[in-house]
Amino acid sequence: MTHPKSEELFRRAVEIIPGGVNSPVRAFRSVGGNPLFIARGQGSHIFDVDGHEYIDYVCSWGPLLLGHRHPAILAALEGALAIGTSFGAPTAQEVELAEAICDAVPSVEMVRLVNSGTEATMSAIRVARGFTGRDLIVKFEGCYHGHVDSLLVKAGSGVATLGIADTQGVPKSFCDTTIALPFNSVDAVEQSFGAHAGAIAAVIVEPVAGNMGCVPPLPGYLEALREITLRHGALLIFDEVMTGFRVAFGGAQQRFGIRPDLTTLGKVIGGGLPVGAYGGRRDIMSKVAPAGPIYQAGTLSGNPLAVAAGLAMLRYLKAHSEVYGVLERHAAALCAAAPPGVTVNRVGSMFTFFFTDGPVNDYESAKRSDTAKFGRFFRAMLDRGVYLAPSQFEAAFVSAAHTDEDIRKTIAAAGEAG
Ligand SMILES: *Cc1c(COP(=O)(O)O)cnc(C)c1O
Repeated sequence: MTHPKSEELFRRAVEIIPGGVNSPVRAFRSVGGNPLFIARGQGSHIFDVDGHEYIDYVCSWGPLLLGHRHPAILAALEGALAIGTSFGAPTAQEVELAEAICDAVPSVEMVRLVNSGTEATMSAIRVARGFTGRDLIVKFEGCYHGHVDSLLVKAGSGVATLGIADTQGVPKSFCDTTIALPFNSVDAVEQSFGAHAGAIAAVIVEPVAGNMGCVPPLPGYLEALREITLRHGALLIFDEVMTGFRVAFGGAQQRFGIRPDLTTLGKVIGGGLPVGAYGGRRDIMSKVAPAGPIYQAGTLSGNPLAVAAGLAMLRYLKAHSEVYGVLERHAAALCAAAPPGVTVNRVGSMFTFFFTDGPVNDYESAKRSDTAKFGRFFRAMLDRGVYLAPSQFEAAFVSAAHTDEDIRKTIAAAGEAG
């Protein structure tokens, strides 16, 4: 398979865009070769500029739970276009999206819309600090919460893929406010609270880690985080930017039955347009300006196009709860067909094939994967028309648009590629 048009576009791109991409995870550095330029998508498939077709398991890195160009989302976008693309004043649909989020996510009593997952986590930790009057934030190694300065410590996703342990450009004093602990270790959290009594504002966690590859919480782990934070007067923030409306309609907190104090959302709630949100307990969210003293704002926050797409997504999912069963069945079938010598982690429709034989419960064990082997698998799958994330340390996503036929073809491809 040759990609002359992608190669030519990439040659132009690297001249004027750092690394040729607008987000590092899109680069193919860790798997070899250059990124494909995508011409269009339809349902579960994408088409590159050289006319090749792929079954898409990136799904825009999670947002496209209904696949590309779903009719319900397209109709909502057309409706929004007829009205106007931005007013900088409240609209009815913002209220409806906020109500839909509060209705779906058990712990969210009030919510503020922003434009990305990064904005959501940045704002949530500000609110946690403002509310508690404390500075320290506990995060976990291999978890990624967007490119927020103080959360880039030992982060996952592109930071893990590129091996940039601690990014340049973040003042040391910012990193000093972050405590990075191993994921899935209750002891580490207990010890940290012991050492920093009364100083930790919040624990932020991906309740199912997705950004070091998919790593589920061990039984009792999320319960322990809830108990410890409560005991020490710290807030528990679930970063559900990836898991929200993905692992269940009400997110990981519904799936595992845990009630965090604050929740961040993004990806699926935008239906493929840029939306993020943070919300949670009423007494905490009431401190956000203009209701309270913690400032956070956005010129395009609650943007009518983005809100229309997000609302259409949430309404569709609420009316079609059977979607989650189909997602689960398709993802389970794919995981059952993993090549030998691979450790498979899956929660709902997010999963990762780790090229290591031991269990993967944290960033240390994820890093034991043979990334060269993953790279060969990635390229063999691409050659067979299957588009995976170009990194070992990412989750794959199934959408409701994936058909039994897609799943069969993917399993056949994996059989040859592995
Ligand atoms: C993707 C992601 C983010 C960042 O969201 P952006 O929209 O890329 O800023 C934050 N947290 C988690 C868990 C994510 O998966």
